[in-house]
Amino acid sequence: MTGSLSTNVIAERIRRIQQTLPDSVRLIAVTKQVPVEAIRFAYEAGLRDFGESRIQEAAEKQAKLHDLPNITWHLIGHLQSNKVNKALDHFQWIHSLDSLKLAQRIDTLAATLGTKPNVLLQVKVLPDPTKYGWTVDDLLSDLPALDQCCNINIVGLMAIPPYGLSSTETLAVFNRTRELAEKIRQQDWLHITMQHLSMGMSEDYPLAVQAGATMIRPGRILFGERG
Ligand SMILES: *Cc1c(COP(=O)(O)O)cnc(C)c1O
Repeated sequence: MTGSLSTNVIAERIRRIQQTLPDSVRLIAVTKQVPVEAIRFAYEAGLRDFGESRIQEAAEKQAKLHDLPNITWHLIGHLQSNKVNKALDHFQWIHSLDSLKLAQRIDTLAATLGTKPNVLLQVKVLPDPTKYGWTVDDLLSDLPALDQCCNINIVGLMAIPPYGLSSTETLAVFNRTRELAEKIRQQDWLHITMQHLSMGMSEDYPLAVQAGATMIRPGRILFGERG
C-alpha cells in the first residue's frame, strides 16, 4: 500500500488533519512498519514528530534519515527495562512509561547519560488486560515515588482506549483521562507536571481532541494500512 503513496497523497492527508486541529495539538505521525521513503514525504510536508513502537526499527530508520534535521522521536510502545539505555539514545519522548520500576530505571540511566527525557504516564481509566499501563488507583499511589525521579520530566498522561468501544464510551475514556491529569495537576508535586495528554489514533483522534488532547498519534490515516 505504502509503495503506491506519493508525496502529494501524504501531504494532502496531513494538511486535511491539521486543518481540523487547534494550534495546541501536536501531530505525532506513527511510522511503525512505514518505509523511510514515506517518512521523508511526511517530513517534506512539514512534520517533525514521529512515533515508533520498537527501538530497533526506529534506530534503523533514524540512521537512514540522519540527513533530516530537527526530528523529535517519540517512543509509543512498551519499553523493556533492559532496553532503557537504547531508548534514551533514540527517543526524546517516551509516551509509554507504564511502571514505577521502569520510571526509576530511566531516572537512574538518564542521570548517568546527562539527558532528561520527557515522559508520559500510560494510564488505563478502564480495565484492559491487553494493555500495559497504570490503573488510576495504582498511579495515584505511585505518584509520591514518581515525584522523586528528578532526572525525567514527567509532563503528562498517555491513554489508549480499550478496543471495541462506542464513540460515546471512547470520548468518556478521554475525558476521564483529562480529569485525572487535572486532579494530579492540583496536587503539589515537585517534578510532575501535567501539561500534556497524548490521546487519539487514526480512528478516534477527533474525540481525543474534543476531550483536550495535546498530542495525537495517527498512523494508518496518514500512511495507509500496515503490512
Ligand atoms: C500503532 C499505534 C498508533 C497508531 O495507530 P493507527 O491506528 O495506525 O492510527 C498510535 N498509538 C500507539 C500506542 C500505537 O501502538
